[in-house]
Amino acid sequence: MAGEFDFIAWLRAQQTASALVRVPAGDDLAVLNWPAEDLLLVGVDQVLDGVHFDSAVHSPRQIGAKVMNRNLSDCAAMACLPAAAVVSAALPKGTSLEYAKELYLGMKEAGEAFDCAIVGGDTGSWAGRLALSLTILGRSAGVTPVTRSGAQPGQRIYVTGPLGGSVLGRHMTFVPRVAEARQIAATGRVRAMIDLSDGISRDLGHICRESGVGAVIYAERIPVHLDAGRMGRAGWSPLEHALHDGEDYEVLYVAEGEMPPETLGIFVGMTTAEPGVRLRTPGGGDVPLEVKGWEHGL
Ligand SMILES: [Mg+2]
Repeated sequence: MAGEFDFIAWLRAQQTASALVRVPAGDDLAVLNWPAEDLLLVGVDQVLDGVHFDSAVHSPRQIGAKVMNRNLSDCAAMACLPAAAVVSAALPKGTSLEYAKELYLGMKEAGEAFDCAIVGGDTGSWAGRLALSLTILGRSAGVTPVTRSGAQPGQRIYVTGPLGGSVLGRHMTFVPRVAEARQIAATGRVRAMIDLSDGISRDLGHICRESGVGAVIYAERIPVHLDAGRMGRAGWSPLEHALHDGEDYEVLYVAEGEMPPETLGIFVGMTTAEPGVRLRTPGGGDVPLEVKGWEHGL
């Protein structure tokens, strides 16, 4: 990339102050203050041109925001507070300085909305397409992390919002459910949680497998997004889009007993002792809920 040294100087000027950051990006490693009472949660997630976004359609700001927001959504899934992030960018040869700055600003703005500073990174140019990989650090900050493995039979399954058709635009513009998930977990009733990146059919399957339970989902209770009705994939109903599309980035959780009414959550089903995920249709009995999420690909 032309002007690499200008870019590094510009990046250093972009650093936002955070009480956690003792030495920001610019040295060999950043140095963080870490509250002794906090657990450290770590994850990494990447976005690839042609898979998670289309660089011919989406702006670099949107692309940068998406890689940060996908990681923030994983923080939501564990009920932790985002703390800091590091990013690695593989830029196509000839990428302009302006484009690289826009990518960074997309990440930075999405992170700042949740007090998550970018404390380091690396860029390289290559003959391939744009790829961004972001590693996130989260802290428990007073809420015990919620795993996928704590559900038991007879518990209630909730989702935090409408599902389906996100590829029409929401997959680039969603707001991760960090604050809501922490409120939900702080009730002390939640036994398992996941963010819906691959659709209920696949993601609820992860919870069931990790927890050693099954589940039944009530078809008429699934919150179907208006976008699901606009998809029009041959042979697919809006309900099927809601169940399988993925990239909704809502949170699905399993709770013991009824959640307090002020907590965000739409009741959609129950965990069962019988393994497998089933869909209960009104008057139609139970059918196995097959995994048929779209392989991401734009
Ligand atoms: Mg996840």
